[in-house]
Amino acid sequence: MIIVMKKDTETHEIKAVCERLESMNLSCHVIEGVNQSVIGVIGEITDDLLEQAEQWSKVEKALRVGKPYKLVSKECQPDGTIVKVGSVQIGKDSVVIAGPCAVETEDQMHLTAKAVKQAGANILRGGAFKPRTSPYAFQGLKQKGLQLLREAGDEYGLPVVTEVVDPRDVEVVAKHAHMLQIGARNMQNFSLLQEVGQTKKPVLLKRGLSSTVQEWLMAAEYIMAEGNSQVVLCERGIRTFEPWTRNTLDISAIALVKEVSHLPVLADPSHASGKRSLVEPLAKAALAAGADGLIIEVHPNPDQALSDGPQSLNFDEFTSFMSNIKGDSR
Ligand code: PEP
Ligand code: MN
Repeated sequence: MIIVMKKDTETHEIKAVCERLESMNLSCHVIEGVNQSVIGVIGEITDDLLEQAEQWSKVEKALRVGKPYKLVSKECQPDGTIVKVGSVQIGKDSVVIAGPCAVETEDQMHLTAKAVKQAGANILRGGAFKPRTSPYAFQGLKQKGLQLLREAGDEYGLPVVTEVVDPRDVEVVAKHAHMLQIGARNMQNFSLLQEVGQTKKPVLLKRGLSSTVQEWLMAAEYIMAEGNSQVVLCERGIRTFEPWTRNTLDISAIALVKEVSHLPVLADPSHASGKRSLVEPLAKAALAAGADGLIIEVHPNPDQALSDGPQSLNFDEFTSFMSNIKGDSR
C-alpha cells in the first residue's frame, strides 16, 4: 500500500503514521518528494486498513499497489525522484557522467577529469574494481584506484561514481565515491543490493545483460526496501542475436521505465554499442526517448586503454560529442 501524505505534513506526523503501521507488523519506507512525502507500506494490507488509513490525520490517500514492485512504482512518487550526487541533481539537471572504463594512472585520471569537465560533463566515472569476463584481464587498481579517482574529481570539482562488486567492499567504496555503481553482471546479486541499500549513498543500477524490465525494477526495489531511495537506473544494452554491436540499446525500455517508475534513468551508449562511432547516435536516441542523462567512456588514448578502448572517446571526440548533443539533452 502507498500512503500519500498531505503537503504540509511535518516529519513527526509522518513518524506517527509509521509507528501506527509498524505496530500492525507492517514495514514502512518514507520517500520524501519535492512537494509531499509518501509512505510505502509492505505487508498484509486488508481492505479495512486501506479504508481506515484514509481517515488518519494528514493522510491524503491510501492506494493498493497490485504490482510486485511497489516503492519504485510511479504511484509511489508521481513527481519523479531527483537524486543528488554532490551538487548535481539527476532527474532535473542535464547529466553527463564521463571518464575511463578503468582507473589506470594518476595522470590518466587528472587529464581525463580536466578534459571532461571542460567539455561540460558533471560527474566523473572510473572503475577501480573491474568485473572482467576473463580472470586474466586487468581487474582494476582497487583501493588505489578509488583514491586516484577521488583526487581527480576533487581537483576539478566533479563528484565521482565507481562500481562496487563485492558486498565486503561497499564500506570502502562508499568512503571514496559520491555514488555507488552496481554493474550489469551484479544486478541480481541480492546481498550486494541489500548492502548498498543500507548506505545513504546514491546508487547507479545498471540493467543486467539479459534482464527483463521487471527484474531490473525488482532489483531497484531491493535497494529501496533497505531504506535507500536514492536509486538511478541505467540502460546499458541487452544481449540479443545481433553480433555487430556489443549489446543492443533497448530504447523502448527507457521510455517504458519512465512511464512506470519515478526513478531517473540514464543511458550508457558506450557499453551498449561497444563502438565509438555509434556512441553519439545512440546517445541522441536515448535522450529523445526520455533518458535523464548519459554515461560515456572517455580515455586520453583509447588505443592504449586497459579496458574498453574500442568504445571509448578521446578528448576531442568527447568535446565534439558534448556540443553535438547540446540541443538534445534537457
Ligand atoms: C562499467 O560501466 O564500467 C561496466 C562494467 O558496465 P556494465 O556493468 O554495464 O557492463
Ligand atoms: Mn567499460
